Amino acid sequence: MLQVARDQLKHYFGYDHFRGGQEDIITSILTNHNTLGIMPTGGGKSICYQIPALLSDGLTIVISPLISLMKDQVDALRSYGIDAAYINSSLTDTEIQEQMQGARNGEVKLLYIAPERLEAPTFQRLLQETPISLIAVDEAHCISQWGHDFRPSYMKISSMLNHFSEQPPVIALTATATPEVIGDIQRILNISTEQTYISGFARENLHFSVVKGEKKKSFIDNYISKNPSESGIIYAATRKEVDQLYSSLQKQGINVGKYHAGMTELQRKRAQEEFLFDNISVMVATNAFGMGIDKSNVRFVIHHNLPKNMESYYQEAGRAGRDGEPSDCFLLFSPGDIHVQKFLIDQNQHDTSRKSAELTKLKAMVDYCHTEKCLQGTILHYFGDHRPGYKCGKCSNCIDDRESVEITREAQMIFSTIKRVNERFGKTIIAQILKGSKSKRINELRLDQVSTFGLLKHFTQQDIVDMIDFLTAEQFIVLTESKYPTLVLQEKTLPVLKGQETIFKKVARKPVAIEENDQ
Ligand code: ADP
Repeated sequence: MLQVARDQLKHYFGYDHFRGGQEDIITSILTNHNTLGIMPTGGGKSICYQIPALLSDGLTIVISPLISLMKDQVDALRSYGIDAAYINSSLTDTEIQEQMQGARNGEVKLLYIAPERLEAPTFQRLLQETPISLIAVDEAHCISQWGHDFRPSYMKISSMLNHFSEQPPVIALTATATPEVIGDIQRILNISTEQTYISGFARENLHFSVVKGEKKKSFIDNYISKNPSESGIIYAATRKEVDQLYSSLQKQGINVGKYHAGMTELQRKRAQEEFLFDNISVMVATNAFGMGIDKSNVRFVIHHNLPKNMESYYQEAGRAGRDGEPSDCFLLFSPGDIHVQKFLIDQNQHDTSRKSAELTKLKAMVDYCHTEKCLQGTILHYFGDHRPGYKCGKCSNCIDDRESVEITREAQMIFSTIKRVNERFGKTIIAQILKGSKSKRINELRLDQVSTFGLLKHFTQQDIVDMIDFLTAEQFIVLTESKYPTLVLQEKTLPVLKGQETIFKKVARKPVAIEENDQ
């Protein structure tokens, strides 16, 4: 069966091989199983339903929320000689009738529709009168309230499925793979975990780096001066920051453009084109820039600020190196950015369960900045592609040759302090207690009475905060989501407190306290 699929791949699309993941998904569909395929943008999701559509007798319905992309998809399929059509609000009634007629007569193999169409009586009649061989749900995360793009009209899909006396297989596709979203898609579309395939998230040619403790502007100036003719994107959080970075780079004679929602449509269009045609090399932009941009030779993406979640980060950083050539992705971290993102979530989200979902996502983003594990591996893990011990060998953590020192005792002291104050304080206070700080707040709260007070006095306050961030990223501790987040111990700390497990952390210099303890 797969050989026939491969023949079709070659015949219609001209490709010799399926990509990782495509084969499994197609086999699952061809054996009549409801299937969920999770692949990053550009991973090749379309072929996963297009090939089964070509191999079956009836009509394939493709549900897609992106009206603007439907026409492109259909045009592309027609150019390969595949009978495809679409129905959406951009067509006149007569045109819609014509497309429906074509589908009914078997002249159309793939019919793209927007989810709103599912309720139209004429469409429901089409479903009853025409043999349907497959239902493809593109951008399937839109079905989940946990997803970043929930569309109420996607809820209509499950009632449509109930109308069939014999339901055709369903293939759901998305690039979003958080466990909550996966769970929702599986439940609503009746897809089993065995028939859920996650693949293709690794981008071997990207070098991920988290940059901490460096002046962001000097880092950018330095990087660009060393790579003067490379094409790249710098993402900043606000229009103001975009304007400032843009002016500063322009003053240095860099061939730079800018893009944000405060510019006119014409200005934005021009800026985008200038970048696409390589008339400008560096684009400074807010996250408004990039949707639907397929520029292959972007050599670097620098995030001047912390993105709100890993989905956004990977999508934006993933605009580098589409051509497969080595490319750099830098995330310039400063703790202040976490507060900005929290503030934005607070402002924009009024629904408490969504707010807490967004805060959880933000936490994963912050943990990415503090982990010492492979960054690409951390991203893959987040997207459900678990590869224990994976090392890309290229990211800033894999190539970090700083010395690894044991911090078990320090970790024990941090855990004990958190416990002694009944998990009521955040990291600044915990670090101050261990440092033995004489701050007003410590005095007011009489925290100098805590038995661990001053036990890490040989470290700088920053060193202690770094250790706490690291232990949080390693999930020994979690930071609660309340207005005043506090540190809470996890079960994982028990073997460490009992001395059954050791913890190592990379340090630029050997902390003084550890040298003393060694003597
Ligand atoms: P997605 O929907 O996941 O964003 P697409 O389906 O648009 O991705 O595919 C991205 C690109 O990869 C397209 O240009 C497509 O033709 C190409 N592609 C898909 N499958 C293969 C394959 N097996 N071999 C080579 N190229 C492929």
